[in-house]
Amino acid sequence: MKKKVAVVTGGAGFLGSHLCDRLLKEGMKVVCVDNLITGSLKNIEHLFGKEDFVFFNYDVTNFIHVPGIVDYILHFASPASPIDYLKLPIQTLKVGSLGTHKALGLAKEKNARFLLASTSEIYGDPEIHPQREEYWGNVNPIGPRGVYDEAKRFGEALTMAYHRAHGVDTRIVRIFNTYGPRMRLNDGRALPAFVSQALKNEDVTVFGDGSQTRSFCYVDDLIEGIFRLLMSEVHEPVNIGNPSEITIERFAEEVIKIIGSKSKIVHKELPQDDPKVRQPDISKAKNLLGWEPKVNREEGLKITIDYFKKELFEN
Ligand code: UDP
Repeated sequence: MKKKVAVVTGGAGFLGSHLCDRLLKEGMKVVCVDNLITGSLKNIEHLFGKEDFVFFNYDVTNFIHVPGIVDYILHFASPASPIDYLKLPIQTLKVGSLGTHKALGLAKEKNARFLLASTSEIYGDPEIHPQREEYWGNVNPIGPRGVYDEAKRFGEALTMAYHRAHGVDTRIVRIFNTYGPRMRLNDGRALPAFVSQALKNEDVTVFGDGSQTRSFCYVDDLIEGIFRLLMSEVHEPVNIGNPSEITIERFAEEVIKIIGSKSKIVHKELPQDDPKVRQPDISKAKNLLGWEPKVNREEGLKITIDYFKKELFEN
């Protein structure tokens, strides 16, 4: 049987590179496209030279041409951590809007299945807790996070429009906070910040009073959920994340404890529009995909800490 061909935009990023690994393991050919503004060749260097893998350094906000048959398109290109999209506001808006348009255009042209990487950020600072897919969200369109949130909301709208108007075979995954190897140490997110601070015995910076909550999913669990969604017939958005919720203060304490660090927690100003709570309702993923996360936080943190240790002290 002929191998399926998958295009992964943002394929050199944290999630994109894990996805490339998984699709190759499933016996597909993978075309990885990334302009490396937040992605890194280091994430995919182990794939260079493999017969079934090609990489294009390309900005997907421009017309995308891929020769030959394409079976799947997974649109993961975007700056995704709050400090990245604050630094790159226009690029973030463009890749979520124009980039999604180009990737959908390629899907239509190739008659390929399309999967959009959406986000829990589309729920904004949520008034419904935990967040179910039916909730429409509470987003400040002109706030600093609006560039990411609104681009992803537009991306979902465009994906459903291509599905309804052009019959494109689409999927939408709403990704909640995810962590694991290949996260960037300096991407500004809570987990890499806390882990690198704790490993260096520096102050651990908790923003605000630390009572805001998040729910962290280990990357292997997330990729399994996304793969199941890709292979399903579900066109509506599906939350994928780990429902185990924790305050940021407790999370910082947990990281310090697991590392056995001498770090102290210090409090810094809470960024504007920082969501107060976040927890996925994963009933839909459970019912429709038979999926739930398997890796608990302690287990996942240990693997991730080992990765960061190597990054910090051996490279
Ligand atoms: N946060 C923190 N210290 C840091 C980085 C982040 O306390 O050094 C907080 C941040 O304000 C938010 C939570 O941790 O409440 C998770 O932030 P992250 O940047 O990981 O992603 P978000 O879930 O906000 O998209």
